[in-house]
Amino acid sequence: MEGELSYWLPIGLVAAAASALTLYSAWHRKGRGRFLCDDCRFNSPTDCLKVERPMAVSCTSYRPISEPKVETKKIGS
Ligand code: SF4
Repeated sequence: MEGELSYWLPIGLVAAAASALTLYSAWHRKGRGRFLCDDCRFNSPTDCLKVERPMAVSCTSYRPISEPKVETKKIGS
């Protein structure tokens, strides 16, 4: 009995850790759909000239539509 526990306990811990990491990465991944462009603010031919559009799965320029735009004020006008 004790031998079985020492065999299955590490396997169970590794499986639980792998599941937790999978859930964490799925929850924190970029984009909502299959492709990043689906909810990217630049997803139009005029705003994005990348060849990956509209089926990018990784993109350093990705910005979600829901992300608030940074307002800039002109000084001295
Ligand atoms: S910036 Fe990247 S994610 Fe956004 S539309 Fe262009 S290719 Fe797609």
